[in-house]
Amino acid sequence: MTAAISRVGRLGFAALGAMLVASAAARADEPRGLDIYWIDVEGGAATLIVTPEGESILVDTGNPGRRDAGRIFKVATEVAKLRQIDHLVVTHYHRDHFGGAADLAALMPIKTVYDNGEFPGMPEKPDRAYAALKCDRRVVVNPGDKLELKQSAAKAEADAAPKLTVQCLATRQQMIRSASAATGAQKTAAAPGEHVCKLHAPKDRDGSDNANSVVLLVSYGDFRFFDAGDLTWNVEHQLVCPENLVGKVDVYQTTHHGLEASNNPAVLTALEPAVAIMNNGARKGCDGQTVATLRETKSIAATYQVHKNVREGQAALNVPDEYIANATETCAGHHIKLTVATDAKTYKVSIPANNHEREFKTRGPRD
Ligand SMILES: [Zn+2]
Repeated sequence: MTAAISRVGRLGFAALGAMLVASAAARADEPRGLDIYWIDVEGGAATLIVTPEGESILVDTGNPGRRDAGRIFKVATEVAKLRQIDHLVVTHYHRDHFGGAADLAALMPIKTVYDNGEFPGMPEKPDRAYAALKCDRRVVVNPGDKLELKQSAAKAEADAAPKLTVQCLATRQQMIRSASAATGAQKTAAAPGEHVCKLHAPKDRDGSDNANSVVLLVSYGDFRFFDAGDLTWNVEHQLVCPENLVGKVDVYQTTHHGLEASNNPAVLTALEPAVAIMNNGARKGCDGQTVATLRETKSIAATYQVHKNVREGQAALNVPDEYIANATETCAGHHIKLTVATDAKTYKVSIPANNHEREFKTRGPRD
């Protein structure tokens, strides 16, 4: 302080004025944490991640047409203040995931697109609009790949800021080789124990592209977020048995909109999430078996739903209204937001439309 005052003394009031302006600018540019938005695409998927450096990662794009692309654009530009999507990851080739991409590209620039490309035995193909999608670069994603994010490791080390990685743990039914190769999982991954693997009872083989979904683990300091697209039951099992390739997580995006073809209890038991967020629709997902699994998972402190399940006779499957972004079938498309603190020690989940906000502690280094 003394040094600053003496410097002001030497430089005079004009310089002091300049310094005040500079400090106001610094406030506007305060360090930011990690934000995640679950945008309502009516039972599709559109998860928008905004990094502390202001880069954007959109995982899936909802359905074709103006509605879903328009909702993504609105949250991206008006709420998250983005001008472009830096990284788009399309988990698999179903319309509720790739469908909005071409419409969104007409609204805002999309820089790099990551997907499964074309591969032997691919069961389904995206449409022509997706194939012709306007973007700067297309990348075929492989297990172990990390997104090239702007944040420099040197800066993270210098500031002791939480390190951010977004890594693909599995795709096209191929798993990352071992947990030690998984950046976010390495502290915790291990043989999950018989009690986990015994929970898996195989289901009928899924021949659709769901089984080829890209599985992402987002790590920010000790915070972990898991998004497996629509990965189905038997492939899910391979993520945690015989080795837990994921480790433990804080937040679990309920796989496949909460449909019971996914959300294998072996995965929930091994991952031990504290928060589950379900990107269901009013009449899609939020299935009874999935809800039972979530309720039986002792680690889960709160479950959120993008939509209330309005199917007849299923009201009891819903969480309390405060934890549901859209209570009615005809809705304004409210989103769920999660903000991880700059030190990554805590995170808040909010539903702005309900004035709901709840803080959770990040698990921290696990044994
Ligand atoms: Zn889907």
